[in-house]
Amino acid sequence: MIFAGGLGNLSGVNKTSLQFLEKLINTPSPSGFEAKGQRVWLDYAAQFADETSTDAYGNAIAVLNPKGKTKIMVAGHADEIGFMINYINDEGFIYVQAIGGIDVSLARGQRVFIHGAKGAVTGVTGALAIHLQDKSADAKAPKIEEIFIDIGVRDRKEAEKLVSVGDPVTYVDAFEVLRGNTVVARACDNRIGTFAAAETLRLLKESKKCDVCVVAVSTVQEENGLYGAQMVGYSIKPDAALVIDVGHATDIPPCTKTKHGDVRLGKGPILCGQCESPRGGGTPENLGSQGQDRLPKGDRSPLERDGCRRDIPLAWRSTDGMYRFAEPLYAYTCGDD
Ligand SMILES: [Zn+2]
Repeated sequence: MIFAGGLGNLSGVNKTSLQFLEKLINTPSPSGFEAKGQRVWLDYAAQFADETSTDAYGNAIAVLNPKGKTKIMVAGHADEIGFMINYINDEGFIYVQAIGGIDVSLARGQRVFIHGAKGAVTGVTGALAIHLQDKSADAKAPKIEEIFIDIGVRDRKEAEKLVSVGDPVTYVDAFEVLRGNTVVARACDNRIGTFAAAETLRLLKESKKCDVCVVAVSTVQEENGLYGAQMVGYSIKPDAALVIDVGHATDIPPCTKTKHGDVRLGKGPILCGQCESPRGGGTPENLGSQGQDRLPKGDRSPLERDGCRRDIPLAWRSTDGMYRFAEPLYAYTCGDD
């Protein structure tokens, strides 16, 4: 739910970049409801693009050098996990279903925004006071159907003036600097990835040395079925693609290095898989094989299905010092050689 990470040594990232990252994170974009966040991303990326577009799914696309002979796609997914209103009871308490892989054990006692048609409505997820709990049994993590949201109304009629079944819900947690280069926020998974895609475009544009076609994409629906870059890969058909997501750092107390490897916050990108190159600037400790098992298998990639190869590949767990939790990055190469 809440991600903490260091901004580390982000060469080239400037104050304007970080303001963009903060705005991007603070714009809720649960899967299926990415439009506002996509607008923020595209407004920024457009400054460094020769062409921009969106598609029917909601992917946002910014292209540098559209006539370049080689086409490279750099993509991250814009959507985040959350909830969706499933039911409102007679007393006005709101019940939800999950959007994506929510950890329900963390869902009690949280402030949330319900994104209703008339704007965001603040609520809190309720929990039974410790004094009223049945102490005879061991405490168990709640089920999703046991989570309820209180928006301070007296009954369903009053609630339905503000929110409706089907409205998405996100945690309130916003971008905040903990200390130094370490920040905390919801939705670092994967606003960090879309941020990296936009910054890639900016740095290449500013370098004035890039003559290949670079397609930066902020994709949709990754958390809701791992669609993300797969869908847009069909239409862009890049020669190579780097799909950026966040990874798990293991330098926190519950992690054991023998099981999870040695992945440290602030130590750079992490390479997963059997890749010989590129190394991406990470330290050897952060280039372990920890994420190898999580590489997509079978025909999950449309790029593979379209004749792309995965023998070099791979996946980066590119924390780049930014995140403690999340998923690996995937990269594919295409072509006959
Ligand atoms: Zn992700």
